[in-house]
Amino acid sequence: MSMPQAFHIEDDELIQYALGTLKDSQMTTLTAHVSMCNHCRGRLAAIQVELAAYATVLPPEGEVPAGARDRFLAKLTVGPVVESKLDQARSTP
Ligand SMILES: [Zn+2]
Repeated sequence: MSMPQAFHIEDDELIQYALGTLKDSQMTTLTAHVSMCNHCRGRLAAIQVELAAYATVLPPEGEVPAGARDRFLAKLTVGPVVESKLDQARSTP
């Protein structure tokens, strides 16, 4: 407050900073700003927490969805027993 910043780092840039996907020049600029700016340091910390939570919620891409899809397709090719079960499930709200 006593030292007004000319700009603050955008959330999008902070997210990329947290992910480590920024270019070296941007990384240097943001690191310098975050080291001086309590506001952006707090935002960065919050984003890192959000990203960590997000990463634990999402399964590794490809693994679970592909396996679930294969099982589903395998069940569909088994026969009429599965179909009748599906019909029952559909008629039950
Ligand atoms: Zn800032």
